[in-house]
Amino acid sequence: MKQVEDLRVSPVERELLFCEWKRLKGIKYFVFDLDDTGCNTSIAFDQQKNICLSYLSSRLKVDGNKAEVSYRKFNDKSYEIHGVNPSRWSWVVEKTCNNLGSRNHEVIKTATEILMGIYEIPLQLFPETAGCFDFLNKTETNFGIITHANVEWTEKKYWDWLGLDKWLARNQIYIVDENGHKGPKQWLEGISFFGYKPREVMVAGDSPKSDIEPSQKIGVQERCLVRRNDRLWKVQEASVGEDTWLVKHIGELMNIGGELLRHQTVVR
Ligand SMILES: [Mg+2]
Repeated sequence: MKQVEDLRVSPVERELLFCEWKRLKGIKYFVFDLDDTGCNTSIAFDQQKNICLSYLSSRLKVDGNKAEVSYRKFNDKSYEIHGVNPSRWSWVVEKTCNNLGSRNHEVIKTATEILMGIYEIPLQLFPETAGCFDFLNKTETNFGIITHANVEWTEKKYWDWLGLDKWLARNQIYIVDENGHKGPKQWLEGISFFGYKPREVMVAGDSPKSDIEPSQKIGVQERCLVRRNDRLWKVQEASVGEDTWLVKHIGELMNIGGELLRHQTVVR
């Protein structure tokens, strides 16, 4: 994959390079995924999953690892069947408890409530996100978000917790149906909703399966995989093209114009 190198130039030169890069590539719009691309969503999932598993192992008197293996199996399966609809948690918990030998309704209800707590934990933007969004505004780069999440949660998350109204209007957010998957059709619908063609946008997201692969399939030329760490949910694995950018955070996108300097060096 391609790396964005550090760009040691003045802020003004950085902005000029970025604008020239957009012009040469024909990029008119940036499209971001948000969860674990721009903000720390997996923290909420991990926290409630750990509380849920420790509750189940103590109430059902089973080994913690055994409970986790069972939970993972049904959590992966639930994503395939139910997408990211929060109603999937009661299914995951019921299947996990049954697998661990329990049909206790009270335990299933409490464990489900613990997982539903995911959507009550205020999230935060990653430290580099605000700087990147400010830079896009400064360079007159319009951008939007294509998200695959529950509508109610998205409302709370975007406007109340993350304050995205500083940069975005509601028509710059496209919500993919939580009951389905974020595939090529959904990416194409989202990009068209913003008024662009796939070749005119840069896509950045943390999921090879739900962000990079589908946008590649519909013809997005500039794609950026955000990988903050090596942890990746199994269901989100996919191979991505060698011509995909790889960054640790979206702040690196501000240096993408450095590609033009590399090219100049080669020409000389
Ligand atoms: Mg994501």
